[in-house]
Amino acid sequence: MTAVLSAEGLSKTFRTPFSRREVRALDGLDLSVAAGEVFGLLGPNGAGKTTTVKILLGLTHPTSGRAELFGLPVSDPGSRRRVGYLPEGHRFPGYLTARQTLSIFGRMSGVAPSGVKSRVPELLARLRLSDWADVKVKKFSKGMTQRLGLAAALVHRPDLLLLDEPTDGVDPVGRREIRDLLREEAARGAAILLNSHLLSEIEMTCDRVAVLKKGRSVAAGRIADLTAQGFTYRFAGTGIDEALLGLFRETGAAAERVNGHVKLTARDAGHLNTLVDVARVRGVLVTELTPVRSTLEDVFVDLVKAGEAGDAGDAEEAGAAPPTEGSPR
Ligand code: ADP
Ligand code: MG
Repeated sequence: MTAVLSAEGLSKTFRTPFSRREVRALDGLDLSVAAGEVFGLLGPNGAGKTTTVKILLGLTHPTSGRAELFGLPVSDPGSRRRVGYLPEGHRFPGYLTARQTLSIFGRMSGVAPSGVKSRVPELLARLRLSDWADVKVKKFSKGMTQRLGLAAALVHRPDLLLLDEPTDGVDPVGRREIRDLLREEAARGAAILLNSHLLSEIEMTCDRVAVLKKGRSVAAGRIADLTAQGFTYRFAGTGIDEALLGLFRETGAAAERVNGHVKLTARDAGHLNTLVDVARVRGVLVTELTPVRSTLEDVFVDLVKAGEAGDAGDAEEAGAAPPTEGSPR
């Protein structure tokens, strides 16, 4: 797979005016997203997600490191030709209608007038805004504004989508529609980088994720790999008693009772089968043996909390600093 987006060692330090305080928004981030892939950047507020997207778009410059889109450095405006962008908490001029907004974005993105004419109604329908096509944007709810923003990002059929909190303020039905739409875009071959602080969102939409904490990636990979828990199983059956659990522990397994079943951790598949044999010999009728997975939320909370003692609240404090560059909207 060829990377549509790649970044190495991205760092960004903001200097705030009127104080000597420096905010390290990014600290050596590596990233790569391939065609057809949905990649999720996950992290608490202030982790550096928006800063990453802004660097990729040339809206802010990295203090160090390099980033490329379609093989061109982000300092080259040509790198952005095939990019669709949904800014965090974006706003459109309230006096425009949805149709006008999309037409203007289409023209600004280099779509020919004839193309705009066919593309705009198609997108309005796809984002369930057809009935609102000629209504002024100022009447739109947060969710509708968000869907219109997504339509604007898609107007020129981009091959890379950079979406900053795309489902922010969108109701559950709308969220599912957006998810389906993103999967369709990926199936068409688009690369998608998605920022979110909503874990379930990321879990359902993304192929790979990186968890950002204070500008660093503290975990990255496929969701299935991040949530795997080695050889831990839910074990249930009739005739499981303390003596059996004692025998399990003697072999080096961990075994504890948790609401009506036993949480069993073996070293490997061979060890697990030995435990099953021990149980069967003692007359246990096994009714359940299923691998235990963490949710992405468990993994995330563990990662974000790790090492927090002593530096808790740093990100929040930093977040209170006034902006100096660009405008984090
Ligand atoms: P996220 O999108 O993950 O919530 P951001 O990338 O917006 O995080 O911010 C990362 C850190 O950088 C925060 O501490 C934020 O306050 C700081 N920051 C972002 N933009 C600026 C700016 N223009 N000036 C100063 N600090 C900033
Ligand atoms: Mg953000």
